[in-house]
Amino acid sequence: MMAAFTEKLAILEESILAGETHPALGTPCACGQANAIHRCSECFQSPLWCSSCIIAAHKFQPFHFVESWTGRYFKRTSLLELGSILKLGHSNKQCPNRLPNQQGRLTTLVHSNGVHVVRIEYCCCETAPSEIEQLCRARLFPSTVQRPESVFTFECLKDFHAHSLASKKSAYDHFTALRCRTNSAFPQTVPVRITQMSTCTMTNISCRTGTVN
Ligand SMILES: [Zn+2]
Ligand SMILES: [Zn+2]
Ligand SMILES: [Zn+2]
Repeated sequence: MMAAFTEKLAILEESILAGETHPALGTPCACGQANAIHRCSECFQSPLWCSSCIIAAHKFQPFHFVESWTGRYFKRTSLLELGSILKLGHSNKQCPNRLPNQQGRLTTLVHSNGVHVVRIEYCCCETAPSEIEQLCRARLFPSTVQRPESVFTFECLKDFHAHSLASKKSAYDHFTALRCRTNSAFPQTVPVRITQMSTCTMTNISCRTGTVN
């Protein structure tokens, strides 16, 4: 059986390595507004998009990892760095009572595919529920009940529950695996809370999306 694969090894290698580039590089985005240089590494057969289009395409899939073409290779970036904001309370639309200078809160978010940093804007309507209620209604579980800066998706918690039942894996081991999925080369650099984000990452995010809180 392996002999059949060995015979096709060169073709398989070539096809896998072809994924390091994209046939649409150098063409404008479908919207016609900007160059298409970003792609999603998790959407099936992701096209290339401009920043606005990739954010719009991920409005309801905000925890995908994305990459940007640097001119030589695709580099991991994030929807946050491209300007994405999670808006709670209005199906990811802007709260009509948002304060003019409101920036949203940088938050570490742990999902089943790894660790993300997101910016969360809470609903400010007079009848708005508390922050922890807003998070839970969006299927995000807060790590603290006051001013949460770390959250876990329900999907991530379900995943951990299944793994711990099947293999008795500890929470520490599960999180270690998630850090490796986020950055397999340097898992120790993956932040476990906002204050551990590297200066470089913080500077990038503040430049692109406004002042960091
Ligand atoms: Zn995607
Ligand atoms: Zn576009
Ligand atoms: Zn609101």
